[in-house]
Amino acid sequence: MGKNILISGASIAGPALAFWLREYGFNPTVVERAPAMRDGGYAIDLRGAAVTVAERMGVLAEIQEARTGMRGMSAVDAAGRSFADIRMDEFVNDAGDIEIMRGTLGRILYERTDGTEYLFGDSIRAIEQDSDGVHVSFERHAPRKFDLVVGADGLHSNVRQLVFGPESEFRRYLGYHVSIFSTDNFLGLDRWVALYNVPGKLAGSYQARTDPGAKAILGFKSPELRFDHRDPQAQLALLEKAFAGERWIVPRLLEAARQAPDFYFDSITQIHLDDWARGRVVLLGDAGYCPSPLSGQGSSLAMVGAYVLAGELLAAGGDHRTAFRRYAAKMWNYVALNQKMATDGARTLIPKTRGGLWLRNRLFRLMPYLPKAANTLSKDIHRAANAVDLRDYPQPPIRCRAPRSAGR
Ligand SMILES: Cc1cc2nc3c(=O)[nH]c(=O)nc-3n(C[C@H](O)[C@H](O)[C@H](O)COP(=O)(O)OP(=O)(O)OC[C@H]3O[C@@H](n4cnc5c(N)ncnc54)[C@H](O)[C@@H]3O)c2cc1C
Repeated sequence: MGKNILISGASIAGPALAFWLREYGFNPTVVERAPAMRDGGYAIDLRGAAVTVAERMGVLAEIQEARTGMRGMSAVDAAGRSFADIRMDEFVNDAGDIEIMRGTLGRILYERTDGTEYLFGDSIRAIEQDSDGVHVSFERHAPRKFDLVVGADGLHSNVRQLVFGPESEFRRYLGYHVSIFSTDNFLGLDRWVALYNVPGKLAGSYQARTDPGAKAILGFKSPELRFDHRDPQAQLALLEKAFAGERWIVPRLLEAARQAPDFYFDSITQIHLDDWARGRVVLLGDAGYCPSPLSGQGSSLAMVGAYVLAGELLAAGGDHRTAFRRYAAKMWNYVALNQKMATDGARTLIPKTRGGLWLRNRLFRLMPYLPKAANTLSKDIHRAANAVDLRDYPQPPIRCRAPRSAGR
């Protein structure tokens, strides 16, 4: 039974998988390009099956404690006047969804992986596999042999690039780019979102309970742009070009983007492969099936995927071929349904025409009076969020462990 498993990426999928592998007696090692766990980040939702997985990990109470506590949102005009206020409980049904900052969730998961070796500040340089195992060379550490390698390294996965082929073969651009970064809370928001739209563009700011400042979000529709993922200056230039001349607080947000320590910019893209495994290498989370931020389900897919992958490795006695096949069979429909949610999200968040925006704004205004319609929307989301069978794996005893310190 192959026990030594290398996981590339320590965000959501990586630590969640490391947790389950340790529980089941495997020996995971995690390599992460960043020098330490990254805290903060943007707000993400955990829904449906992912909440069940969090419960089985024994981290649900901690996650709930760290929730953002958002109360609602206002749609505003160019002068900052609200024309529609929507309270969260008007369009989210009571299905146990949890909104939390991505970095906080990552830290909570990481702190439950005591005993796992983390190689921070490093990246896989090359992967060669044979019947005996996977030979991995790193950029910094000495080469090592593992039984299996898991790519949990996100949308621009290094493992996928090395083993499956260039990202261009698997990416499906959804027509938008998005930027998120920390900013001062100069609107004085209190667990509230303010959103401003012009056709094809969205600007917003939100303040979460756990955030001393606020976050800015800027999204826009465009043909696919070419840029270097590691060059924030080039990304800033694209953002400034897209939002030049826009009103509301857009100039202040662009100014904040230049100073932000956590500036994030990327295309809204999905990843689609025919198979998530190649020999002893398998993909997990965004690396294998990124649904894009518009689906609001990427972290949930990562948490659930980790649970299913580890469970199938256990059930197959470490026989990776069987385990990877069953992992794909269990996850395929769930992933497909949640990837589908993304296209609907775009139309609501960033309508591309004046007519579309007018209709969307009408809907926002009517939202408080349409609880039934809103619940129908929410029901589709929850149907997708629960479309996976989690019943089969043994539940380890919930252990109370002393949290480890974040980063090394
Ligand atoms: C703006 C935005 C909003 C979102 N909103 C939601 C939401 O509401 N709900 C939701 O569920 N999801 C949301 N998501 C998606 C969610 O963040 C991702 O789907 C989720 O984080 C996927 O987790 P992951 O661990 O698979 O990948 P990632 O979180 O992308 O993590 C990949 C990790 O791999 C590391 N890495 C990258 N390259 C290498 C390398 N070469 N070597 C080693 N390590 C490497 C990275 O540093 C990172 O730590 C949102 C995403 C964005 C960008």
